[in-house]
Amino acid sequence: MARSTRSLHPAAECGAEVIVATETKHLAKIPNFEVKKEAEGKTVESEEGWYCGSIYFTAHPVDSLLFQNPDLFHDLFVLKCVTTVVFTSGDRGNTDNFSFALEHGLEEAYSWIAGVPANEPKRKATLVKIGKYEVPSWAPKDMPSMQILYLRLPDGAPAGQGYDTNGGESLKKLYNKEIKSITTTDGNVTYTLEDLKDIIVTVLHERQANDIRVLNYKASVSHEYNTDLDHADHTISAKLVIEVIEEEKIRANVKVYAGHFMRKLEANLGPLHPDYERKANAFFKYAEHDEQMCQNLEECEDELEGDEADLFLDRDVKHISHYLEREYYVS
Ligand SMILES: [Zn+2]
Repeated sequence: MARSTRSLHPAAECGAEVIVATETKHLAKIPNFEVKKEAEGKTVESEEGWYCGSIYFTAHPVDSLLFQNPDLFHDLFVLKCVTTVVFTSGDRGNTDNFSFALEHGLEEAYSWIAGVPANEPKRKATLVKIGKYEVPSWAPKDMPSMQILYLRLPDGAPAGQGYDTNGGESLKKLYNKEIKSITTTDGNVTYTLEDLKDIIVTVLHERQANDIRVLNYKASVSHEYNTDLDHADHTISAKLVIEVIEEEKIRANVKVYAGHFMRKLEANLGPLHPDYERKANAFFKYAEHDEQMCQNLEECEDELEGDEADLFLDRDVKHISHYLEREYYVS
């Protein structure tokens, strides 16, 4: 596949060469997970196998729209065969139904990209059996090959310090063995690090995707958070996936996507690029359900103003207009 190999950034800053990303994928036939109806707890018939080309591993509901798009667009629009794993609920320390709204926003965006109706008026919530766990899942009606899996871990905050609303728990603390387990924001499951790796193993083996897409596991993680670092959830979730790929000797094309750092690189999806409008429109479908996000391009530009030194401000919110104009691989 053609892609630019133009190297654009001082590699030393994130420890890796970064190149322009443009590509779409092939398919491989795989079995489905067992599907259950969440509300009734009744097992329904397992789906037939389907072809599935890509797995997107993300930290927050919005991540695939910001950092792995337009690749996501090309996968969903052309092949409609994508599994997305969302590690955390992306709650940013909020409670109530905030994170459920974010999931709904992601589903609206995926439906819009794929050109299929979202499951309105009532959202179709299901659980899928992954190993010994039942994981919340969503797929459009009559299109099970396009699936989102929600692990609903607490949002770990930008530096991985966690939020008080979640008892300060974070993926980073679990990974660094500062805590022994982490409880989902819906309170339904408590996972150890090995439990999470077991889930990743199962997803990878059952999907057998040609392309595994992760955020930047090479980014620095530090207790001294600064605005140049990526979100700790991005880095740690990707590290976990890469470790499993190596331990299980999974054979696939692994694509690593630049996260917050890419705002410092040259815009490679300018307003005249055909994918720019698609990426922006998909994001704004999501944003309608995320009250902390800018809702149009003008608002997103305004968001860039303000206190850059706020170390604990979530960069997923602040730099949207930069992310919409970019997508970069890290190698
Ligand atoms: Zn994020």
